[in-house]
Amino acid sequence: MSDKPELTVSVVTPDGEVYNNKTTLVVCKTTEGELGIMPNHTPVLASLAIDEIRVKTGEDKFDEIAISGGFLEFSNNTLSIVASAAERKENIDTSRAERARQRAEKRIKDARTKHDEKELKRAEISLKRAINRIRISGSNK
Ligand code: ATP
Repeated sequence: MSDKPELTVSVVTPDGEVYNNKTTLVVCKTTEGELGIMPNHTPVLASLAIDEIRVKTGEDKFDEIAISGGFLEFSNNTLSIVASAAERKENIDTSRAERARQRAEKRIKDARTKHDEKELKRAEISLKRAINRIRISGSNK
């Protein structure tokens, strides 16, 4: 980009690094709400919601990454995101996510019938992940 100050952002998962870039702005959805991080932001540690992060790549242009929950840490102009799973928007397999959504909905129905609260919670999280992937893969921001 330009000679503006930049920060480095990296997204790692148990499968390895999914994303690494330099940018002037990252917008994250933490469990406490939206957090915008620019170079020289104060150090921060936060947990991430099942949502997306957006990395500015140009005027009105962002890379979008689906995050299935995790943590972020920012210090010394490095933003490290450790996620249980993460996919760049263009790598999301929408039909796979749609199948996962249908499976999760069935599990939720069955868990309700059986009054299985633990399974209900797990299935609701699976549903959130699937809906998140579907929403991000279809978004046009
Ligand atoms: P599924 O039931 O389709 O596996 P899941 O929510 O159980 O979905 P995860 O356990 O969150 O899947 O992820 C397992 C691996 O598969 C991770 O590497 C994740 O990035 C990848 N992944 C899951 N769903 C998709 C998808 N729709 N498109 C691309 N990669 C995906």
